[in-house]
Amino acid sequence: MRIAVYPGSFDPITLGHLNIVKRASRLFDKVYVCVMVNSGKSPVFTVEERVDFVNRVTSKYGNVEAESSDSLLVDYVKSKGGLFIVKGLRALSDFDMEFQMALTNKKLEPGIDTVFLTADEKYTYLSSTIVREMAMYHADLTKFVPREIIPDVLEKLGKAD
Ligand code: ADP
Repeated sequence: MRIAVYPGSFDPITLGHLNIVKRASRLFDKVYVCVMVNSGKSPVFTVEERVDFVNRVTSKYGNVEAESSDSLLVDYVKSKGGLFIVKGLRALSDFDMEFQMALTNKKLEPGIDTVFLTADEKYTYLSSTIVREMAMYHADLTKFVPREIIPDVLEKLGKAD
């Protein structure tokens, strides 16, 4: 069984993230989307909210499950019996950091490989930061986040007026 982990902050999950999940679900038998708790960022949505968003928007993929973890990523991957970490690459700007992380994880756990999926060209510009910014101005979010979670995102962020 090919088990992969797709880690990130998902604050909140975007259509770009969801595109990676969809493609990973075809490549692997099981995909854990892991909301990482200690990523050094100060998230707007709670861990529970972020996990709930991911679970809601991925419910149509039978082999995808969202969880959270505050462990070292490779320890979490091992605990799931996984051998793969999935990452999305948007642009050159993602590359340096992701390359460094992949090599670090490889040193820590040589049996675990990082698999990079290139972002769909429709979403190369898209980040959770952009979504949060747009939500604060009540912008139409349908091009940025899955429909199911738009009311929740606006509820928390769209209170600028
Ligand atoms: P962000 O950079 O938006 O805060 P995360 O830390 O949650 O995102 O990112 C988790 C993973 O998803 C990373 O591998 C990141 O490169 C990837 N990713 C983020 N946005 C996109 C996108 N629009 N298309 C493809 N991959 C993405």
